Amino acid sequence: MTRRFERGVFLDRDGTIIEEVGYLDRPERVDFFPWTIDAIRALNRAGLGVFLVSNQSGIARGFFDAHVVDQVHERMADMLQAGGAHIDAYYYCPHHPDGSVREFARVCECRKPARGLVDRAIAEFGIDPEKSFVVGDRWLDVGLAQAVHAKGVLVRTGYGEREEQRAPKGAAADAIVDNLVAASSWILSNI
Ligand SMILES: [Mg+2]
Ligand SMILES: [Zn+2]
Repeated sequence: MTRRFERGVFLDRDGTIIEEVGYLDRPERVDFFPWTIDAIRALNRAGLGVFLVSNQSGIARGFFDAHVVDQVHERMADMLQAGGAHIDAYYYCPHHPDGSVREFARVCECRKPARGLVDRAIAEFGIDPEKSFVVGDRWLDVGLAQAVHAKGVLVRTGYGEREEQRAPKGAAADAIVDNLVAASSWILSNI
């Protein structure tokens, strides 16, 4: 039986958990920030569900296939496990309206800031989104938080420093912090 969690932390992948390297097309290119494993382990120990939520339009664009994304996530899971941490589920959107791969070239419900990936965690783990958090380096991650009435944390890693300088109208993060370990600390002091 799947574990149930009341609260979830939805983590963007590229630029938040791992270095932003453009389209990540090989598992060997996975590069955790030095604090990533500690940050995730602290969330695990606090009893929060930890979920990866990632837009992977490279699939729709034909740059790599879903199998490569799964391999990337398997590598991440191995590296986390070696550090005593884990992500409870890995969710990603393979779509993009301008994609070249017919199967994935469409508007969908799961490309952030749309809420579809969070809805999967609600269905599978019983998460209450209003008691949950979204962490990411783009305003669309904060937009996802707003869409599900979770708290949104913008990190300054990846595109975050640049994003901080140009907040779109109506965008409001609950916190803007330097990196994932600061986000994790902020979350743990706000539950
Ligand atoms: Mg990102
Ligand atoms: Zn999608």
